[in-house]
Amino acid sequence: MGRSVTETDDACLLCNAERVTDWFHEDDDCWVAECMVCRTPMVVWRTHGLPEPEHEARLLAHLERVAAERYGDEGFYIDGERRRIPDHWHAHARPAGGFFDPASELYGTY
Ligand SMILES: [Zn+2]
Ligand SMILES: [Zn+2]
Repeated sequence: MGRSVTETDDACLLCNAERVTDWFHEDDDCWVAECMVCRTPMVVWRTHGLPEPEHEARLLAHLERVAAERYGDEGFYIDGERRRIPDHWHAHARPAGGFFDPASELYGTY
């Protein structure tokens, strides 16, 4: 693979997020929505980049609140691995012991 020089945010899915799913939370800093692929709650920083650790903790608190409403306090875990879009900070909350939400077509396939 050649080195990509197209670093414009135009190419970033998260920068161009469309409201195709429900948004659970939204503020000047971040938003929490259902991931189109996993159907689990996902928090996305509005800035294209990676936040400082203490900032990250604040962002994750929004996700944890949404996830606890959906799966229960002990019913989820935070998956901070950015598989598809590594340079734009986001994190998933996934149901305990699973990867996709039962609503996803991919549920049980991982
Ligand atoms: Zn981005
Ligand atoms: Zn996802």
